[in-house]
Amino acid sequence: SGWWTHVEPAPRDPILGVTENFLKDSHPSKMNVGVGAYRNNEGKPVVLECVRKAEAKIAGSDLMEYLPMGGNVKFNDLSVQLAYGENAECLESKRVASIQALSGTGACRLLAEFQKRFQPDSQILIPVPTWANHHNIWKDAHVKAQTYRYYDPKTKGLDFSGLVEDIKNAPSGSFVLLHACAHNPTGVDPTAEQWREISAVMKKKEHFAFFDMAYQGFASGDCEKDAQAIRIFMEDGHQIGCAQSFAKNMGLYGQRIGCLSIITDDQTQAATVKTQLQLICRPMYSNPPVHGALIVQTILSNPELKQLWLQEVKGMADRIISMRHALRENLEKAGSQLSWQHITNQIGMFCYSGMTPEQVDRLTNEYHVYMTRNGRISMAGVTTKNVEYLANAIHEVTK
Ligand code: PMP
Repeated sequence: SGWWTHVEPAPRDPILGVTENFLKDSHPSKMNVGVGAYRNNEGKPVVLECVRKAEAKIAGSDLMEYLPMGGNVKFNDLSVQLAYGENAECLESKRVASIQALSGTGACRLLAEFQKRFQPDSQILIPVPTWANHHNIWKDAHVKAQTYRYYDPKTKGLDFSGLVEDIKNAPSGSFVLLHACAHNPTGVDPTAEQWREISAVMKKKEHFAFFDMAYQGFASGDCEKDAQAIRIFMEDGHQIGCAQSFAKNMGLYGQRIGCLSIITDDQTQAATVKTQLQLICRPMYSNPPVHGALIVQTILSNPELKQLWLQEVKGMADRIISMRHALRENLEKAGSQLSWQHITNQIGMFCYSGMTPEQVDRLTNEYHVYMTRNGRISMAGVTTKNVEYLANAIHEVTK
């Protein structure tokens, strides 16, 4: 005995703790707007119809064998086509190294590890704020991290000049973590013009652009439009890296299916890079799981299922956009004198409301509305039935 007496409990996860508290509350009007997973207008989780159909097609197939270390190759090819565009030059010249990953988190973690091994002196630049796990990921990979300005609380929008200044002032050859679309937690994305400028600055500084794309299709409802930042960087000749997740846009959260890709000089280098990515996986988990990759492969390779998926992802995005409008209208109807324009300007799953931690505490304690103390509202938890209640409660605590 005595081996583990010095082990202290790890800090509670700020997001998962919200749901724990929500479940303990028995109030009939309680609301969970903390969780970052899609809910329908009944407040229920959704399995997409295209996923059900793909599963029916897969049923009975031989899917118990090991995948290769790099995962399902057809899945990888279809995944990068979605990110880079079907006719992308880098795909035609086969200079993209791609590997199946344990969803978006796993893809980020692999990239961080690869960065540590092959650009050991480089650092990662992380936006303020960001998805909290980004910090853990690069910390565990022992990559030096710095932050760059992103969100301006005064305008509840992008701090564009701060962003550009920080990227300009970072040492040349830094890795810059960019949210490809639907920035989490702020819902604030650069415009196409601003992306072009960021791309130009990064080109000049010889920075490496790493796109975390956890919400393709989920932001605007259009997978092509949501990839615009990536396409702009490609046009400008950046050799980017990209983490893709099918958690949100296909509702495959627990399947842990994603893809890491890195654009290289040529086909030989892509193959070489892939061998090293595989070598990172081998001692950790050997090879990735079968089922989620097969679902995504089946959907993306079947024109009918793909069409159905595009409709369904648009349906989810549209419901969220309509709840943004409803929340803003109800706040105005309640008589709030504050500006709530940012609710409809922001995009994706989250609304960065601007509420203070104290206001959030009142919302939870007095109105049974559960969310993270940074003021982030998951719009996926808002429905036509609870939006008025939420708006009135927000109005009361922000008066
Ligand atoms: N990146 C961002 C910005 C996210 O919001 C998320 C999900 N919350 C992820 C990555 C990873 O999610 P997953 O590992 O489930 O794909």
